[in-house]
Amino acid sequence: MKCLPVIAVHGGAGHWRTKKSLEGFLKYIEESLMAGMESMLEKNAVEGVLKAVMVLEDSGEFNAGLGSVPNIDGEIEMDAGIMDGSRGDAGAVAAVRYVKNPVLLAYYVLKNTNHVLIVGEGAERLAEQLGLEKMPIRERQRRDPILSSRFWARKEELIGDTVGAVGIDSKCRLAAASSTGGLAGKLKGRVGDTPIPGAGFYADENVAVVATGIGEVITLGALSRQVAEAWQATKRIEIALRLVMNEVNVRYGENTVGLLGVDIYGNVHAEYNTEAMPWGYLRYGENPVIKGLPTRM
Ligand code: ASP
Repeated sequence: MKCLPVIAVHGGAGHWRTKKSLEGFLKYIEESLMAGMESMLEKNAVEGVLKAVMVLEDSGEFNAGLGSVPNIDGEIEMDAGIMDGSRGDAGAVAAVRYVKNPVLLAYYVLKNTNHVLIVGEGAERLAEQLGLEKMPIRERQRRDPILSSRFWARKEELIGDTVGAVGIDSKCRLAAASSTGGLAGKLKGRVGDTPIPGAGFYADENVAVVATGIGEVITLGALSRQVAEAWQATKRIEIALRLVMNEVNVRYGENTVGLLGVDIYGNVHAEYNTEAMPWGYLRYGENPVIKGLPTRM
């Protein structure tokens, strides 16, 4: 079976920021799509989504890799995950502080270990052994803690900018990858949805999905996996995403999450209940398409 390669990336669900960042966002989203597609054509879907996310981590414009937001202590703790739908296998890392590209470390967990998720010091030791590039040292910037209530009752805190990518290659293999600095002001050691397979990312032989927004909501709802199940019932990615989003809206309210998915037919769609979720896709042989910008700026 042959498929037309497609890659899609997002830059996080949440409130919109300044116009200056909009230009940066768009530039890097396009760059990420192009680099991801190139890697997918040369290698496969997993390498495509890996490369797409690494471009966004390196841009410093998003809440992932170099642009990660600090926790309550002013420290950076990042999470990332990647899944190969054709093998039903994933790798992920959580609460890593010193790795420049957490998604690359997640990829090595997938490729080189018997595990799915490695956290904190253990993940950092692995990165050291692999000789992965380190984050430049940053000054600590203390943040106001988000302590008084559950995250989804504090939706105004959701700025977004987490990154993720989904793709399908010419051999119809699907893959998903996600990376984040988490929510600004999170407690030290807090891990969101991004490194949890089935929550922040998921891929099988029919769909690849990534989620963004309030990680607690995404994890509790196992949202990426829910989309895969809704796809089984409907065979339509846009309907599957909408069904899951409707459930989120009823249970946790609006301003909470965004979802991006691609299916085996090459259909791509995103749903979000936040002000914005910049995302884009690139089909082989066509120009990139960018969506999800706010209606007012
Ligand atoms: N989902 C991420 C987290 O909760 C944050 C985001 O998507 O903006 O860690």
